[in-house]
Amino acid sequence: TATLLTGSAPTRARFSFEVFPARSGAAALALGHAVQHLSAVGPDFISVTYGANGSNRDASLDLLTYLRNHTDALPLAHLTTVGEDRDAVRSVIHRIMDAGVHDFLALRGDPPRGLGEDDPAVAGSLSSVELLELIAEVRSERPHFTSVGRTVVAAYPNGHPLSRSRSEDIDWLITKQEAGAQFAITQLFFRAEEYLGFVADARSAGLRIPVLPGLMPVSTSAQLRKVASLAGRPAPVELEREMEATGGFAPELGVEYAVELARELLDGGAPSIHLYTFNRHEQVLAVLRELHLLAVPA
Ligand code: FAD
Repeated sequence: TATLLTGSAPTRARFSFEVFPARSGAAALALGHAVQHLSAVGPDFISVTYGANGSNRDASLDLLTYLRNHTDALPLAHLTTVGEDRDAVRSVIHRIMDAGVHDFLALRGDPPRGLGEDDPAVAGSLSSVELLELIAEVRSERPHFTSVGRTVVAAYPNGHPLSRSRSEDIDWLITKQEAGAQFAITQLFFRAEEYLGFVADARSAGLRIPVLPGLMPVSTSAQLRKVASLAGRPAPVELEREMEATGGFAPELGVEYAVELARELLDGGAPSIHLYTFNRHEQVLAVLRELHLLAVPA
């Protein structure tokens, strides 16, 4: 009733999406359709992944350009450094900015298949902190109107595979904050306390930037296993069992799980939710609908 009396809209939690470049012409058509639906619900931004080693650089740029020119959504460019030298990365930053995209998720990137962390091509790559510095340097060289933009970094509630301790991960995230990161997006995880505990510890250590939890409503047992490997934790036994019982395909189970998780995260103080879409709109929009986060029914 307070809302009715004052006429102001209730404050809703915010959301954003991740998509990846299509690998075929047919997939590109489907993706164009999906991003139209995704942008129509007014996300804070849509982020576009980047293949480590520059493997799908042009496809990433095409998708960013499509979002910029054909949707109302704000594109956010993931950018990795692994396997590319400083000049190559610098030139990609310029190309992205030339396309009118100014917001970056600065990443080191995973080693290409077959290469270990100790390989000189991997060990010699710029870290995400050095990439933040390079982006700032490129911005300072550009005309004023193309030198604005936000910089975002990755966070790992369950630890990055390379880190030896939680405090190392937190110190490194704070180093990214000091290098200019304005917010962080997390790796996938399954349990709210993994995110909430990590953020609480990071806050005590001096982290001030917002940390957006990354969530993916899974459709299949194979996706569930993939998320478990990224999360560095086993999938919840119950969810795994129920998914298997359906023959390995049950999008509604993934939606239900993501809704519960998002509720706990938002109740626990998460500033918004970042949804990994797997290039489909149906499930992530179902999650947002269940959470009553859509201003207009989609
Ligand atoms: P960095 O920040 O450079 O460091 C990785 C980790 O190494 C740190 O967490 C820390 O534990 C350790 N470390 C490194 N240097 C130091 C140091 N000096 N002191 C202490 N510890 C150190 N990959 C892609 O290829 N393309 C994508 O589009 C992509 N998108 C992603 C989006 C999100 C939200 C996330 C969470 C990950 C994404 N990744 C992507 C994966 C990411 O590239 C890998 O996880 C990669 O191994 C690490 O990248 P980073 O930017 O976190 O690395």
